[in-house]
Amino acid sequence: MNINNFITFDIEEWFHANYEEENAKETTAERGLEVSQYDATSTNLESNVDRLIDLCAENGVKSTCFILGDVAKNKPYVVKKLFEAGHEIASHGMSHKLIYPMTPEEFSTDLRTSSAILEQITGQKVVGFRAPSWSVKRETLPWFYEILAQEGFLYSSSIYPAKNTIFGIPNFPVTPHYPTSNFVLEIPQSVMNLFGNKVGYAGGGYLRFFPIWLIKQQIRKNNKEGKPIFIYLHPREIDIYQPRLKLGVMDGYFHYQGIGGCEEKLSSLLEEFKQSFIRMDEYALKLQVILGTLPKRT
Ligand SMILES: [Zn+2]
Repeated sequence: MNINNFITFDIEEWFHANYEEENAKETTAERGLEVSQYDATSTNLESNVDRLIDLCAENGVKSTCFILGDVAKNKPYVVKKLFEAGHEIASHGMSHKLIYPMTPEEFSTDLRTSSAILEQITGQKVVGFRAPSWSVKRETLPWFYEILAQEGFLYSSSIYPAKNTIFGIPNFPVTPHYPTSNFVLEIPQSVMNLFGNKVGYAGGGYLRFFPIWLIKQQIRKNNKEGKPIFIYLHPREIDIYQPRLKLGVMDGYFHYQGIGGCEEKLSSLLEEFKQSFIRMDEYALKLQVILGTLPKRT
């Protein structure tokens, strides 16, 4: 089987981010603006998504889009545009709540509500999920996959298989596999080895931080070793005009560095690896056909 890679977008507004655990009692949204003043129609989300659709179209690439239920509710036309352009519509939960503080029942409701909104717009079953801020921890694993399986999901792309200050499961396998016997595939975030530590390089703040030559070198290296990789970005990451959250020095740096050059990096990656990109649902289905009867691998 040829190595497949994936382009993924987490479709959320400029203020959807989770920093509250670290340094404040308020939510990020409350620190950024008065929520009551939020007017969904006045953000740049739609034009940023249009740009992402164009960039993919220029290279004949179909992406996987993990979309928040709140965004779909406020801007169903954004979901429709992505769907009509052939991109996969997957779930990113309802309103960017972290997974590990939830009870299994709360997660189940969140998943069901957000998927129903997306399915109503497209008329198609949602089969993929990405946890907000990679917020699946080791103790969350058994019920997390159980609920995804109950709701008919084929795969999740929710785990950072390394250590980070706010997320990650160190020692988690770095390649797509079935973590439990439910046959819900996990496609973990792509990592590289940097001075003996595993670290992300192909999405978000990591993609904006590392030079493009290093990112391309690591993709080629991972693919040579038989490992698929995925790129992930948010619409706001190609938008230098977005409103700014009030964050501390470190959070602010990670959240905003490299925005100016991000679109160019994405464009260059799309062009170089366009032959390898497929949608995650297609990959999960393909694997299920090939490996569907194999026992669980951890
Ligand atoms: Zn997100």
